[in-house]
Amino acid sequence: MPTSELFSPNPANTRWNLRSDDGSKGLGKGAHAEQKVAINYGNAYAVQLIEQDAFPCSDCHKWFLKYTATGTKSVVFCVSEDGTADRSYHVGLGLPNGAGYPCLLFYHAGVCTYLNAPGAWPAAPAVPRT
Ligand SMILES: [Zn+2]
Repeated sequence: MPTSELFSPNPANTRWNLRSDDGSKGLGKGAHAEQKVAINYGNAYAVQLIEQDAFPCSDCHKWFLKYTATGTKSVVFCVSEDGTADRSYHVGLGLPNGAGYPCLLFYHAGVCTYLNAPGAWPAAPAVPRT
């Protein structure tokens, strides 16, 4: 299970503010921390950043496609490592095989875009890259 933290832009859209603690706290085996932080902390925010030490699993990938489908929510994942061995799933969907970390996944309007924001990505602070 990944460690997830959710951020939203500050009012001036100049930086990301932490909105959650580790979303995996208190979750049982098989729980999906990224869905949990979005449900528990993301509802008020149209643009969200989720920092995670793993890629979204196939279940979470489909969940975030639906979550962003109406265009009222946009989520970018900043993935620091392949903690749950789900990277290959995303390579199968179009993530470039040699992409380094942090690896960015943009969920917007029901589509996942890898590494770079899609043209229609809403105004938001730059995504942290270390
Ligand atoms: Zn998951």
